[in-house]
Amino acid sequence: MTKQTLHFQAEVQQILHLVTHSLYSNKEIFLRELVSNASDACDKLRFEALDNAAFYEDAPTLEVRVFFDAENKTLTIRDNGIGMSADEAVQHLGTIARSGTREFMARLEGDQKKDANLIGQFGVGFYSGFIVADRITVESRRAGLKAEEGVRWSSTGTGDFEVEAITREQRGTDVILHLREGEDEFLSTWKLKSIIGKYSDHISLPILMKKEEWDADKKATVVKDEWETVNKAAALWARSKSDITESEYHEFYKQIGYDSQEPLAYTHNRVEGRTEYTQLLYVPAKAPFDLWNRDKRGGVKLYVKRVFIMDDAEALMPVYLRFVKGVIDSADLPLNVSRELLQESRDVKAIREGSTKRVLSMLEDLADNQKDKYDTFWKEFGAVLKEGVGEDHANQERLAKLLRFASTHADQGVSFADYVARMKEGQEAIFYVTADTLAAAKNSPQLEVFRKKGIEVLLLCDRVDEWMLSHLYEFDGKPLQSVAKGAFDLGKLQDEAEKKQAEEAATAFKPVLERLKTTLADRAKDVRVTSRLVDSPACLVVEEGDMSGHLARLLKQAGQGAPASQPILEVNPGHELIKRLETDARFDDLAHILFDQALLAEGGQLDDPAAYVQRVNRLLSA
Ligand code: ADP
Ligand code: MG
Repeated sequence: MTKQTLHFQAEVQQILHLVTHSLYSNKEIFLRELVSNASDACDKLRFEALDNAAFYEDAPTLEVRVFFDAENKTLTIRDNGIGMSADEAVQHLGTIARSGTREFMARLEGDQKKDANLIGQFGVGFYSGFIVADRITVESRRAGLKAEEGVRWSSTGTGDFEVEAITREQRGTDVILHLREGEDEFLSTWKLKSIIGKYSDHISLPILMKKEEWDADKKATVVKDEWETVNKAAALWARSKSDITESEYHEFYKQIGYDSQEPLAYTHNRVEGRTEYTQLLYVPAKAPFDLWNRDKRGGVKLYVKRVFIMDDAEALMPVYLRFVKGVIDSADLPLNVSRELLQESRDVKAIREGSTKRVLSMLEDLADNQKDKYDTFWKEFGAVLKEGVGEDHANQERLAKLLRFASTHADQGVSFADYVARMKEGQEAIFYVTADTLAAAKNSPQLEVFRKKGIEVLLLCDRVDEWMLSHLYEFDGKPLQSVAKGAFDLGKLQDEAEKKQAEEAATAFKPVLERLKTTLADRAKDVRVTSRLVDSPACLVVEEGDMSGHLARLLKQAGQGAPASQPILEVNPGHELIKRLETDARFDDLAHILFDQALLAEGGQLDDPAAYVQRVNRLLSA
């Protein structure tokens, strides 16, 4: 291949510009990114060599070397990992594989504190080299290719890059940074060591640098031609707990979690027994921007006996714990385990169950002992955890205890246990209402009588709530009861007088109810009087087994046609409007308006808004 000049993909140009300009205040992270790429390349070699040991050639010890040339002002990060072919260099260093460029850039532009970890999260770490270099030269040869099949890639990080074939005996990659004017600080062993210590200590490969010694004659430190390992070079999780400091745990998290914040909690255990494995699992303090994105990466990395096998091994964690980051290192799985095999392995099943329990214990511990942290967790990940109630029946009870809600008594943080402790004498059920927003839930007419009697009602407005409740029927033996479903029955919470009054009202209103039924025959399944309401004239409810209006709307939004079951219109016999209804000449208009308003009050949409407006206008101008 002769020398070729190629253009960066348009997105790369934008990102290069943004990364080099906006991350300048955090420039030293370039070294973390390049060392992490070197380490990834060694992991890949070790993995591919499982099938083809010849890939090791005559250099079986994988390592990273960092060295500089003070005269020429270059800094080199060298690895003997998998390397790149010419095609791969063009592909990997000239285009962006992942989707979401726009989101990434908007974040980087918008963030005041310019979160440097976004570049790792998004997978553009390599370009951070251009923060300190005005030219980067990459020389590489892929394992398995001939010496003449090496490649040199070179760019000033502006519009384009050059590639040419070179002869390279060494397997692996040199990333050579030609430092910009004014970046001489990186031509210092001390400085580089301190950055490596800060960000890359946990890298499980040795990172080597040249020894430096004080030369008394020259009265200066001189760089010797002798290499030394400058990091701990042991996988953090494989070290004993008592040897690891809190800050080492945190730094490791930041690296694997692509996060600039410290984690909320972590758990580190060696599990022995039928299957042996080590787990180091973290709960982040903040949801990643792509938490809801199905092909997001990250999560839990799988190692087998320290050998990196795969990222984001979804078989190791249930989907509802997808926010958990960390490492699981198994002693039993075969090194050549595939994703398919993982799905079927009994060892993996045991690991997943064990790890799930660990994460739940960690969350329980936060909830019991560090309430502030648990509140943070809940705010970020509560809606995801709720998915578990339906997905993980074995742990449903534990999950139910971890749930937090808003209620008519408190705006947030109400657990089922809190609720049960506040239940009224004679109250048998846990009451809740679902709505599209918290405001709509709070103002539901169905709550009126509960408010009056001081009975607490949970206010649910997450999208997953309805679905979750279709899997959870009770807590602590108390059934969960929607205030908008089924016949109104407060049981012992209503006294005899109230019950009698309700029965009398039902008889007295019979003729009106019959007329309403006829008028609204196409819209309401039934019309009945209720003692649910205090201030509102009417509300809609559904039958016990029917889908709530809220859920039907959610399904409709999601493009799934929901079976249309008609609601029941309940009217308040104590309300002036209802009392007047029978003798009012505008009965038909009023009946429809009652229905429409009840629908609006619960956040529904009118099928025929124009008809509603006409009716209201007729009333107003009468
Ligand atoms: P990420 O590491 O998240 O994939 P980077 O921008 O850091 O994103 O690197 C882009 C790609 O370039 C890597 O995925 C890899 O394929 C390739 N690459 C970078 N550095 C090396 C290296 N030292 N050896 C082999 N391949 C590398
Ligand atoms: Mg990288």
